[in-house]
Amino acid sequence: MTKAKSPFTNALEQLRLACDYLGVEENIYNFLSNPQQIVSVSIPVRMDNGKIEVFEGYRVLHSNARGPGKGGIRYDSKVDMDEVMALAMWMTWKCAVVNLPLGGAKGGVTCDPTKLSPREVEKLTRRFTSSIIEVIGPQIDIPAPDMNTGPQEMAWIMDTYSMGVGKTVPGVVTGKPIEIGGSLGRNSATGMGVSFMVRELAKRKKIDLKKTTVVVQGFGNVGSWAAKTLNEWGAKIIAVSDISGGYYNPEGLNIEKMFEYVQKHRILENYPDKKVKKISNAEILELECDFLIPAALENQITAENAGKLKCKFIVEGANGPTTPEADKILFNKGIEIIPDILANAGGVTCSYFEWVQDLSALRWSLEQVNEELEKIMLDAFDQVYVMKENKKKISFRLAAYLIAVQRVAKAVEYRGFFP
Ligand code: GLU
Repeated sequence: MTKAKSPFTNALEQLRLACDYLGVEENIYNFLSNPQQIVSVSIPVRMDNGKIEVFEGYRVLHSNARGPGKGGIRYDSKVDMDEVMALAMWMTWKCAVVNLPLGGAKGGVTCDPTKLSPREVEKLTRRFTSSIIEVIGPQIDIPAPDMNTGPQEMAWIMDTYSMGVGKTVPGVVTGKPIEIGGSLGRNSATGMGVSFMVRELAKRKKIDLKKTTVVVQGFGNVGSWAAKTLNEWGAKIIAVSDISGGYYNPEGLNIEKMFEYVQKHRILENYPDKKVKKISNAEILELECDFLIPAALENQITAENAGKLKCKFIVEGANGPTTPEADKILFNKGIEIIPDILANAGGVTCSYFEWVQDLSALRWSLEQVNEELEKIMLDAFDQVYVMKENKKKISFRLAAYLIAVQRVAKAVEYRGFFP
């Protein structure tokens, strides 16, 4: 088996492709291929058993050319600097493709959150925040949830930052609980955005959404909301998966019930339904379906399995689920992909609304949030679609990159290089 390349190597390859196509000046390519700032910290935590454990934490600002850095913080045992660098760069393109006045950043702590108690997670979060307090802020870099972090962690970040600077600063972080300046609709936003993309793509391809089958890899925040929304719109969700494995029913799964189950039990393990066949996480990707939504991790669709895929379209809920090698194989097979930087931009778009509400001390209704979200997502989809049509023989990914990289490169060019 060939070893998948690192996420940052893949990210650089994607940037190179876009820059070559656009004819971006080499100086600007060089600048954009390096993160502007990398902060790496040790996080000592006194565990419940009295011992001190030291965790590694990172915050990477890839670019603030178009605005303050923006991007989540993930807690996972696979987090390393390379991954965070890739994710930060992807955030730059993501914010640019949906035209938010924000740059790209990302953070992460290498840890296994399933092995930590709530008290330990709180201490870890607060110490990490305090270690990066100089490099975050509403006008500097605004963290948000990512894998294994959510409203509670964001609340601790907001509180720790506020204690540090001596005043309450809701705009330092997004994805907070509503009670302390969170936005309505943030939880569902990424999955809803993915669903808008599926619906739009079906419309353009003249496919009746109600006659489609969908497979979702990953049933966390993104995958479960995408499955729930698409199910409500009449698509048939035939398989979903999470770390406990794949759940398959060709007649369609009871998504409402599964959604409720994970709200209670976090994962689908022991989900009781006799009509459901358990399959592996690898098998789920190879099922025949109209739309495959990888909404788990990076590097899931690789040169090894791309040839075996039997879906018609891929809509990327996760960041970086498809490697550049797999991209080529799928392009030649005629499987079209709505890329991560567009497909999962609903989360950061709603984060942007939250930040705007916090800075202006205003509150938006859920209707307003969802309406604006849909508008921004559909606008971006349309721009990418038109770019792809105009250029002929390019993928949606390249089309999205051309728009995003062009916007960032222009910003860099106008601002120039200091001093
Ligand atoms: N972590 C999410 C992402 O990868 C959201 C980032 C944000 O809301 O700032 O897009």
